[in-house]
Amino acid sequence: MDLWYTEKQTQAFGITAKVRETLVAKTTEFQHLAVLDTEEFGRMLVLDGMVQTTVRDEFVYHEMITHPAMLTHPNPRKVAVIGGGDGGAIREILKHDSVERAVLVEIDGEVIAASKKYLPEISSGLEDPRVEVLVADGLQHVREHKAAYDVILVDSTEPVGAAIGLFSEEFYRDLYEALTPQGVLAAQTESPFFNQGIIAKSFRGISGAFPCTRLMLTSIPTYPSGLWSFTLGSKSNDPLTVALDKAQVLSTRYYSASVHKAAFQLPPFVESLIRG
Ligand code: SAM
Repeated sequence: MDLWYTEKQTQAFGITAKVRETLVAKTTEFQHLAVLDTEEFGRMLVLDGMVQTTVRDEFVYHEMITHPAMLTHPNPRKVAVIGGGDGGAIREILKHDSVERAVLVEIDGEVIAASKKYLPEISSGLEDPRVEVLVADGLQHVREHKAAYDVILVDSTEPVGAAIGLFSEEFYRDLYEALTPQGVLAAQTESPFFNQGIIAKSFRGISGAFPCTRLMLTSIPTYPSGLWSFTLGSKSNDPLTVALDKAQVLSTRYYSASVHKAAFQLPPFVESLIRG
């Protein structure tokens, strides 16, 4: 019998994957969690019916949420990931020799446990001695840590449930306070085709808190519409003009110095979302 999984990305559009096996499907305290083994993209983490990551294309998302922000800071030593329980962003952060401490603040411990069990290629960094894993609300953690981090990555689910506050103006101001003087924020900010309101609102919110704000695009096949955005907020250095020598020594499959520069070039329809 053929088994197919469909994510309805909008009311009228979705993507479908052929499933070899359902490895786990359960309701946690925060969301519905599933790990599916799909024929085309390998193992896939699904939360509340939305694809979070797959073994085949995860490198694009995790490299792009991490390295542009890490290279915008001259010497990132303390880094935090808010959300990101699959561990992919932590794995990328650890590629930077300057990192002394990486803190994962994930609200749902069951996402971490499922990722460790079923997605070892993605979650391997969580066992590194430089990593501290906290099962806690990222909103509260950021509010309670002032000038604590050089870089913060907001690797959140879509703005539903516990993640709603992770897209708020108040949170962006708290992130600014939680960063050191040359601090850099990177947040995943959804699809320019399907989530234009979220991109416009988060760009406005981050611009209200940070002197330098830049939107970046990348292509992720299993995400809604395939085109994805990240927004960077920086306290002092402009991600567009920083030196990228360190990009050459990183072991990456998608990110490079050229990709860094290209990612900030926006097509007019995206530019118009953030220029009002
Ligand atoms: N790459 C993914 C994407 O864009 O689809 C996001 C991956 S990661 C699995 C997102 C995580 O954010 C989830 O595991 C979820 O539990 C976590 N999360 C949601 N709200 C949170 C909050 N307030 N504090 C900390 N983690 C949160």
